This record gives sequence, structure tokens and C-alpha cells, in this order.
Amino acid sequence: MAIVLNKVDTHGAFQVWSLSFSNDREVSMRAKLVLALVALAGLLSFQSAVAQDLGPQIQKIKDGIYVYVGKNLNSNCGIVLTQEGVVLIDSGHSPTDSREILAAVKKLTPLPILYLIDTEPHPDHTTGHFVFAPPAMIIGHHGAGESMRGRERDTPGRIEKLAGASAEMRAALQGYRFVTPQVEYRDKMTLNVGERTLELYYLKNVHSEADTAIWLPKERIVFTAASVTVKRFGNHRTFVSIPDTLSGIKMMKSFNPEVVIPGHGDPGTVKILDDMEKYYGNLMDGVRQLVKQGKSLDEIKKELKIAGTEDWAGKDRIPNNIEAAYRAVVGK
Ligand SMILES: [Zn+2]
Repeated sequence: MAIVLNKVDTHGAFQVWSLSFSNDREVSMRAKLVLALVALAGLLSFQSAVAQDLGPQIQKIKDGIYVYVGKNLNSNCGIVLTQEGVVLIDSGHSPTDSREILAAVKKLTPLPILYLIDTEPHPDHTTGHFVFAPPAMIIGHHGAGESMRGRERDTPGRIEKLAGASAEMRAALQGYRFVTPQVEYRDKMTLNVGERTLELYYLKNVHSEADTAIWLPKERIVFTAASVTVKRFGNHRTFVSIPDTLSGIKMMKSFNPEVVIPGHGDPGTVKILDDMEKYYGNLMDGVRQLVKQGKSLDEIKKELKIAGTEDWAGKDRIPNNIEAAYRAVVGK
């Protein structure tokens, strides 16, 4: 008797195998069952070995959709496989992450990375562009390139400094080039690649000069950019508007997503959006009450305690969160 393991199909890390027996008469049904179970167990351990091979940061979200979850709340990178090629969402926190992402993509598919969508232009999402482009075409919202060029002007020596962080970082920066998006859309854009559709939506005044939410309607997955955080205070620059951020969250909730992937932090469900809505509600209520009592901004910063955020990271950002709420409450 011979047992033949035939590879039938490959989709991403998932390989379909069929088991066939020759000279069936020599094998009892019972023996066949045992052999099939042994083969299945082997296949399952092979599958988990494949999953482990992708590295500890990679989480499978759905068939052909993965997230490289940034270490210690560093930025996430979405990996969307299609029949035509790969779409990446952000390029990893730093070039060492970008190299790990590229290695994982190469294990998942022989197809090229066609597009890289920036959820925002900050360096912790874009420094690794050069690892993927070309061939990847980079897409961001209008203003992304200008924001990146501004940062580049204001922080001379940034890359040399980054290279000095470790030997690994220096190696990962080999061939570094400053690469800005080739395509800048306004307000909304639809990207059809292979069997997938990705809808890009501008998020106004949420975090940077050019934030993009990405919605995959068939898969019911939303990438929120930095509009929401997971147990961590966001960094609210002076142009950030909490009412605009709440509108963005409301829009993403209206999609009725099954999976919510934040710019930083673990992927989850719509609870991520609910929690953020609740946080901003509590923050605004707290600031409003103290303003009504005639308290100054400085007094509010000293007195305000925001329920439910005791275990959040980034407490140094609480003052700029309070300032954003104060701007909204007093209408400045
Ligand atoms: Zn940012």
C-alpha cells in the first residue's frame, strides 16, 4: 500500500492537501481512519509551524488578511493578499519592522506588493516606505507628502540618528531613500485589487494632516488609523478636534465592522470604537462641568480625573487631551 499526499491548492499560508490510498483492499477502514488522523495531525502541526514562521508579531485576521502588530504599542501594518498582489496598510514602525513585514509577505505569497496605503504621514508609519517602493505605489490623503517633507526639513540627521540605535537598525536602513506618496486622494477613494475592494476615507482633524480610514466592505474590516487608541492616550496636536474625531468614529461604526484594527494596539471588535466614544464623552463632560464652575484650563488639568483610564498608557498626553476638550467646550 502507498499513501500519497497531494497538494491541491495554496491560499496564503493555508494549503489544502488531499490524501489518497493506492491498493485500498490491503487497508482496512479502521487503519485508513488512523492514517487519516495521523496525516491530519501532521498537517495541523505543519500549519502552525507555518504560522510561527511568520514571526510573533503577525496575527491572522481572516483568510488572506493579516496584521503585523507593532511591538509595545508601536504602529501596526495591515497585509491584504489578493489574487493580483498585495496591499499593505502602513509600512511598520521602523525599518527593522518593515524588513520583518517584507519577510512575512514573501512567505505568504510570491506575488508583488502593489500598493501601500498610508493611514498617516508620521515617520512611525512611513520611514519604511523605501523597503516596499518600488514596486509598491504609495497612496495617502492630500497633504501627506507635504507633511512628510516638513518633518524631514525640521529634523535633519533623523536617519543617521535612527541608524545609531542598533546594528540591526543600521542594517535595516541599507538603501534608505525618502519616499513620499505617489498618489494623494481627496476625501474618498476606492481601490479595487483582484477580488478585494478597499475604500479609503479621509479622517479630518483626528491626528495628523492626512489621516485615512480603510474599510473592506466584503470582509467587514476597518482600519481606523490613529483616530482611536487601545488603552492609551492619543497625542492631540493643536489642530485635533474631538467633535471631528467623534464624527469619524461614528462614520466607522456606521459601516458595522466585524473587525476593528487600530493604528496602534491589538486588533479587536467594534468595542474599540465604543470605548473611544465613551472616553471622549467622559472627557468632554468632565471639562464642561469644570468650565461651568469657572475653572481655568490650568485648574482643569490639575483637577480632572477621567474615569476608566487608570490603566492607560501615555499619561503624559493627558494635558493635550484636556486642551483639545477645552477647545471644543469653549469653542476656540
Ligand atoms: Zn502619528
